[in-house]
Amino acid sequence: MCQKPLGKNIDKCEDCQKWQNIYPNDCLKNYALYSYNKEFKTLIKRYKRYHDASVCEVFVALIKKAAIYQGYDYYVSLPSSDQHFKERQFDHIALIFSKIYTLTPLLNHIQGNDYKSQGEKNRQARLKSQQMFVCDYFEFSETTKILLLDDIYTTGRTLYHAKDAIRKKGFKGRIDSLSIAR
Ligand SMILES: [Zn+2]
Repeated sequence: MCQKPLGKNIDKCEDCQKWQNIYPNDCLKNYALYSYNKEFKTLIKRYKRYHDASVCEVFVALIKKAAIYQGYDYYVSLPSSDQHFKERQFDHIALIFSKIYTLTPLLNHIQGNDYKSQGEKNRQARLKSQQMFVCDYFEFSETTKILLLDDIYTTGRTLYHAKDAIRKKGFKGRIDSLSIAR
């Protein structure tokens, strides 16, 4: 489901098992283009921490080389949290994907106290919580297909929160995701 490389006789990683327990009928199909290895980690660090914008072109080339997923109605990159955005002065994920797709800014990051207040909830409630992002508008039909875009699939948590925010608006159509690395 998330395209993590697995050993023999294992059909799902631990994260996917967890998501399947929480969302039995609504797991994300994630396209992961590359493995999250040492080289990828160095590259993403240069881009995000040291603001090396030239690395953006490297990611664009890598994505184009791996595959371009067409046929979706909306390409939605996961927004950076404001704090990160301020530090970097640019939304690093949107910048990469905007050079490949026409992006639709459906999601906004929920900030500060609104998000922190969730600390009171237990872990299960937080995993299911729909409060990391808010979907601003939604007027699409059930046949609409959405591709969520992120840089790294770590546990899938951010992508599932993004899906939750869109589902909260009543959307029942297809939502898939693409991460540059897993
Ligand atoms: Zn998995």
